[in-house]
Amino acid sequence: MEGADDPSEPTGPGPSPQRQARLFALLYSAEEVQLRSRRIYEEMLARSPNLQTGNFTRIGAHDLESLFAAYDREFFRGRLSEMLLEDRALPMGFRLSGRLVRAAGMTTRTTRPIPGKSELEYEYEISVSTTLLFGTFRDVERAVTVGGLEVHDRLEALQRIFEHELLHLAEFLGWGKSNCRAANFRSLSRRIFAHEAAYHDLVTPREQAVVAHGITVGDRVTFEHEGIRRVGRVNRITRRASVLVESPDGRPFSDGKRYLTFYVPLPMLQKLP
Ligand SMILES: [Zn+2]
Repeated sequence: MEGADDPSEPTGPGPSPQRQARLFALLYSAEEVQLRSRRIYEEMLARSPNLQTGNFTRIGAHDLESLFAAYDREFFRGRLSEMLLEDRALPMGFRLSGRLVRAAGMTTRTTRPIPGKSELEYEYEISVSTTLLFGTFRDVERAVTVGGLEVHDRLEALQRIFEHELLHLAEFLGWGKSNCRAANFRSLSRRIFAHEAAYHDLVTPREQAVVAHGITVGDRVTFEHEGIRRVGRVNRITRRASVLVESPDGRPFSDGKRYLTFYVPLPMLQKLP
């Protein structure tokens, strides 16, 4: 029998020093990380009906679920699902989001008191940005890094994004909070995934717009909207461009003028000199 403070011993729900020890016990060399993540790469291609090639063009939330299972097995010795189970938060949520246009992924933890009990109800969710994923390895040709490591196709990019989010999940499970700019996160990310950094330079809609359509923020553009040709200035680029068109019917802006805002798909914009 092992002692109660043995890090391999599961504990009750919620963050705890035991959980922190069980997560900090995970340590892989850079070679081992490569080997294990390559195994996951091959497994995803072999098993997913969506991911046919490294630069896949379809993905479903179910693929994120498979990815989670593979990572929990290869890198976390099943500890993530064990802790989720202790928190009665299994299955956890996985979502593909077109709305994340700067962050490549997002991990959330929600806690709610259970009425009439002293315990908490936990919920975890990981979202991955399809906008960044599908915007990368398309029109823009350059080296792309995620987590400080160069990635060569969409699946590798997805893996690095997912690894980052799994570290957030691990921190939530062990510490109850998470911050990828803090020392604790950096240390976990080096031990488990050999990540060099916590940022990405995936192709954002803004960069995509420049390369594919020659359009940047501040450009004067024209477009047709409900049969009327409008002229305005690009104010922001997310999935679409937001274009400000001067009009007495518009909202007042800080420059003292009034503007209507239009959300226009980039291919519909024509740049004006
Ligand atoms: Zn982060």
